[in-house]
Amino acid sequence: MTPQFASTQEGPSAAPDGAAPERLAQVTGLAFDLDGTVYLGAQLLPGARDLLDALASAGLPFLFATNNSSKSAEEYLVRLHALGLPADRERLLTSNDVAIERLRQAGLRRPYLVATPTVVREYRSQGIDPAEDDADTPDCVLLTFDTTLTYAKLRRASDLVRAGLPYLATHPDTVCPTPEGPIPDCGAFIALLAETTGARPEVLGKPQPPMATAIEARLDLPAHRIAFVGDRLYTDVRMAVEHGFVAVLTLTGEAQRTDLPASPHQPDVVVESLTALHTLLRRQGTLP
Ligand SMILES: [Mg+2]
Repeated sequence: MTPQFASTQEGPSAAPDGAAPERLAQVTGLAFDLDGTVYLGAQLLPGARDLLDALASAGLPFLFATNNSSKSAEEYLVRLHALGLPADRERLLTSNDVAIERLRQAGLRRPYLVATPTVVREYRSQGIDPAEDDADTPDCVLLTFDTTLTYAKLRRASDLVRAGLPYLATHPDTVCPTPEGPIPDCGAFIALLAETTGARPEVLGKPQPPMATAIEARLDLPAHRIAFVGDRLYTDVRMAVEHGFVAVLTLTGEAQRTDLPASPHQPDVVVESLTALHTLLRRQGTLP
């Protein structure tokens, strides 16, 4: 299906009569990717604060859902508040939250956790007790976006995966966008360990179902009532389409309009920025 180009001013092919796309009219809750959608680096993207404030004022449920597992939820909240955004713990879902839930379900309590120190502390505070050193016997390996990764950690993870331990990863993104350009992310670590072990992990974040299910549970709405707003076709849009969310692609991050024709994952709505999405939601009466 061809996506409706619903950008309000900038796009060459706005919807007829400026009408909001049909699927968007059913939306009563929204979930937002962060990097490239709400902000890029330290900079808030156009329209983000106005839209989120309007959702909060209107009492519409919304959620920030990020794959980026390099920071704890607490660190995210500090950052979101510093940007003036109406965030709280209930409105934040990270791939670490999804991983912690998955470990609990699987009865895994002692991961070899490849993660930053603050993230290790977060798992500990949630009753997961990461293996501390080489003498410790872990019950699984969990890769996250560890920006403090060392050769020693890579080697240990590789040894444990080769030994056949259950192997999980928070998300598949190979790079993380920054104002200076893309940097190696969890998916690149997965690729490295695939080279050394031949194994691939169970992935929990977007576009995989565990993240989608967690979003639905958190917003407490059926999938077709939820718009997922993101900047990546192969994670955000793919998850939205496969899970039955309304897929909104914002062109403020990775995906460009020219990427659309070749993408197997087509969004329901394409907007130039969250300003355009805000206009659409007002036009259709979802927001005052
Ligand atoms: Mg993004």
